[in-house]
Amino acid sequence: MIDIIGGGILGLTLAYELIKRGTSVRVWERAPTLGGLMGRTRFNELGGMECDRYYHAILSSDRTLMGLFDELGLRHRLRYTATKMGFYHNGTIYPMSTPLEFLRFPPLRLIDRLRLAYTILACRRITDWRQLEQIPVAEWLTRLSGERTVRHVWAPLLRAKFDGDYSRIPATYIWSRLVRTTDTRTKGGSQELMCYLPNGYQELIDALAAAIRQHGGQIELNTTIDTIQIVDGHVSGLVVNGYEIPTTNVVITAQTPIARRLLPSAAAAVAQRWGQLDEFLGIVCVLLVLRRRLTPYYTLNITDERIPFTGVIETTNLINPQYVGGYHLVYLPKYVAATSPFARMADDELRTVFLGYLRQMFPDLRDEDIAAIRIGRERYVEPIHPIGATNLIPPLTTEIDGLFLANTGQIYPQLTNGESVCTFARSVAARLSSRLVQGTPSTLLTRM
Ligand SMILES: Cc1cc2nc3c(=O)[nH]c(=O)nc-3n(C[C@H](O)[C@H](O)[C@H](O)COP(=O)(O)OP(=O)(O)OC[C@H]3O[C@@H](n4cnc5c(N)ncnc54)[C@H](O)[C@@H]3O)c2cc1C
Repeated sequence: MIDIIGGGILGLTLAYELIKRGTSVRVWERAPTLGGLMGRTRFNELGGMECDRYYHAILSSDRTLMGLFDELGLRHRLRYTATKMGFYHNGTIYPMSTPLEFLRFPPLRLIDRLRLAYTILACRRITDWRQLEQIPVAEWLTRLSGERTVRHVWAPLLRAKFDGDYSRIPATYIWSRLVRTTDTRTKGGSQELMCYLPNGYQELIDALAAAIRQHGGQIELNTTIDTIQIVDGHVSGLVVNGYEIPTTNVVITAQTPIARRLLPSAAAAVAQRWGQLDEFLGIVCVLLVLRRRLTPYYTLNITDERIPFTGVIETTNLINPQYVGGYHLVYLPKYVAATSPFARMADDELRTVFLGYLRQMFPDLRDEDIAAIRIGRERYVEPIHPIGATNLIPPLTTEIDGLFLANTGQIYPQLTNGESVCTFARSVAARLSSRLVQGTPSTLLTRM
């Protein structure tokens, strides 16, 4: 039996993959619902309309996800859309979906545009990411794309993604991002194919939970694990509300700073090891439910530094609005370091500030267009992997027998997304299963 802390996509995929391999599981989730960051939000004021709390695209090239959809009977539910991307630059919106549109982007001269195209091609040819690990991303991009393109294209994107400070970020970041997104292009290279499930990732979450339960797995909601009990170097139990639940194997899927808080003093060395690389960016995200379409773009990247949010993500240019009550969904995310004033800003102020800037971009947006607003805040979203920090990534195993860590902070050099999380969960399940089959003296292994 393995106890898994966290009922997000990682914990559930891990539980499903373990149960497939014959290991019984118990999932512990502190929230009343499953899904974590991929969960839903409900608008009672709009007749109970539900949508994703945050935007979550699935790419047509996501192989592990497609395999999961097949196994869980969800493939036929997928809908495909050719989405568009734009750039907001100096008060004007430029379409940037096709190579031709990229080549027409006004701030760039012909030579810059050619170098930008070369950067994308060069990225796709790199197979050994380790050569990029020690190079600061801006330095590498300047070498490939030139100073002007970095100033007008890359730097604004990086600033937005890393809350202003990307000086410690290695070139692997942009390599991973470009390889993933250019994988989704249609054959002519002109359109980005994305897909979605009509009820969002929740459909996958629900199908995983159903499969886990069907095979005898347990899922406990509304249950916060307070501490992991450790005796003589072995896991002996989980502490919930002062009660100990005996167990011998625990995998924590919550983000590392949360995971560290679950360790007792007997695991101080592990906590210290995990603390060497546990930086995560958070997010604040204003979700607008609109009565009309705002843009034709799924993603509108913003190169104007005065605008605080990272982009304008209009998910109903991917999802058919019929699945969200006929409304149009616009997400305004901002990645935030713990010290960012936006992370601490009160909801009212955040709403006013973000809406003020959105109206500067879209002066025809009227109050009557806005049906509802919801503000989301998350402290741990994007793991930061600074230059040369690969060796500090905490391993799956620890010196405590039966204590394991499997979270998004260990996913590298891939970026964190549904595909990489599920692929990672599958590989962790394979490693745990073979470890348990080999057997350690204290391991209680239950075969289904
Ligand atoms: C705005 C935004 C946009 C995103 N866009 C995309 C996208 O387009 N495509 C994509 O694929 N991904 C996207 N992501 C990333 C994606 O949401 C995450 O990578 C993924 O959901 C992480 O899943 P997880 O299970 O690792 O973590 P989480 O979803 O955080 O799950 C961890 C779970 O552990 C639970 N937990 C924590 N502590 C305890 C405890 N002590 N006891 C019990 N339970 C506990 C939490 O309640 C939570 O449910 C986005 C994320 C955000 C916020």
